[in-house]
Amino acid sequence: MENIQAFLAEVAEQLGLASLLTGDACAPYETDVMQCRGRAAAVVIPRDTQAVSALMRSAVRHRIRLVAQGNRSGMVGGAVPDNSGKQVIVSLSRMRRVREIDPLNRTIIVESGALLSELNRTLETHSLYFPIDIGSDPAIGGLIGANAGGSRLLKHGDVRHNLLGIEVVLADGDGTVVQLLAPLRKNNTGLDLKQMFVGTGGAFGIITAATLELKRIDQSTQSMFVALPDHGTALEVLQAFEQHFGDLLCAFEVISEAALAITLRNFPTLHHPFGQSSARCYALIEIASSMPGLHALFAERTEQVLEQLYERARIVDAVLGHSSSFWPLRDNLPLAIASEGIPLSFDVAFSRSRLVAFREQAAQWLQHEHPLLQLYDFGHFADGGCHLIVLVPHAHIAQYGIARVVAVRSGIYRLVSENGGCFSAEHGVGPVNAVYYSKYTTPKVQEISRAVQQLMDTQAVLGRYRYT
Ligand SMILES: Cc1cc2nc3c(=O)[nH]c(=O)nc-3n(C[C@H](O)[C@H](O)[C@H](O)COP(=O)(O)OP(=O)(O)OC[C@H]3O[C@@H](n4cnc5c(N)ncnc54)[C@H](O)[C@@H]3O)c2cc1C
Repeated sequence: MENIQAFLAEVAEQLGLASLLTGDACAPYETDVMQCRGRAAAVVIPRDTQAVSALMRSAVRHRIRLVAQGNRSGMVGGAVPDNSGKQVIVSLSRMRRVREIDPLNRTIIVESGALLSELNRTLETHSLYFPIDIGSDPAIGGLIGANAGGSRLLKHGDVRHNLLGIEVVLADGDGTVVQLLAPLRKNNTGLDLKQMFVGTGGAFGIITAATLELKRIDQSTQSMFVALPDHGTALEVLQAFEQHFGDLLCAFEVISEAALAITLRNFPTLHHPFGQSSARCYALIEIASSMPGLHALFAERTEQVLEQLYERARIVDAVLGHSSSFWPLRDNLPLAIASEGIPLSFDVAFSRSRLVAFREQAAQWLQHEHPLLQLYDFGHFADGGCHLIVLVPHAHIAQYGIARVVAVRSGIYRLVSENGGCFSAEHGVGPVNAVYYSKYTTPKVQEISRAVQQLMDTQAVLGRYRYT
């Protein structure tokens, strides 16, 4: 039987009252960036791994559900409690210590509450950085919990590809701390246990520290904004850039004409890179290398490639510039869309060859079934990724109650599935999309996930989302 009062008394005694918040003090931790909100019994803010271990022991003893929390920028509601008022948030925000930087090995061991921005600031003096590039400022534990991707996944991979080790506290009754922090790039000594905690939203343990592989900061870069006749041609342009630049191509983001227009409308300080254009979509492309002195070569080769593409009518126009002049157009998109109504967001991914077909089908289906809604799409095109936002404009919100919103979501996800895509590309599984996990994940995978969770957490004390 859960006993919240006894649990809280134990936590106060072991961790100190300063580590425990209750009542109104919990409010800032109960809502995330997507405005998913719940009600917590308490928020615990441990100072070190031993405190997390003690907390876990008490949680198992009293059967209290713990929800690990980073910086609440996750998109599926996984870091906030439900509305029962019985779940306890574990904020890792006080655990931000860098334990070790090894510039020679290009690795860092850092506690899971450290923010990506502060980590990279620390690493700057060594000309190193952690190459996950996203528009938010997540904590390291949240990055691992969501297995974040970001705009440079094409070149550097997602968090999983850059994670060498973790330290994690298990829900086994003893609060066992498993230390797998060795900064090794090669380690084939059995099961790679850390993978169980990557992209599983805190369902199997609370991560307290991580060993990350670092990259050298780029010294030579070339950015450009390219106007394209249609999304199909974007794939040809992508192939041309891969052919000419190989693995130096590090970002290829595609933005639809409608998405660019709504951004410019809502952010008047931003400017259309071409003044105006007949393009149907745009690509923000970046070439980068940590090798210095390649600027001239990049510029010359880029102009050659663009010229060839222009002559073959594969591009409408292009402008070269500094990345800081183009990324605000991409990063402000979600905010711009949200300011004109209620956004229904889809974070989906396909094999590249199916991406364009899906997009066309989604546009046609929406036009036919839901003509009052507007479609905006953008995303990490080179990874087969697409952030699709269906906007319910302010003027039509009254016509779109829960049932019709569910119909829109189901219709889009049906097309995702028919095109061999997945319903969560970068953001994991949480309360927001749990119903689609049940629908689109095979029964065998669900069965195994349930069994593993049962094994790791017999008292069901972990995670906002359970594989049950
Ligand atoms: C403007 C914006 C742009 C974004 N762009 C991208 C993008 O390009 N690519 C992308 O992949 N994501 C993107 N995101 C989503 C988000 O930033 C990532 O999912 C990020 O990894 C979440 O980190 P967080 O610290 O905020 O985690 P939270 O939201 O706090 O938590 C995320 C999940 O991890 C779990 N968790 C947190 N800490 C721990 C821990 N210590 N141990 C175990 N589990 C833990 C939580 O329980 C939850 O399930 C974006 C978000 C915003 C707001």
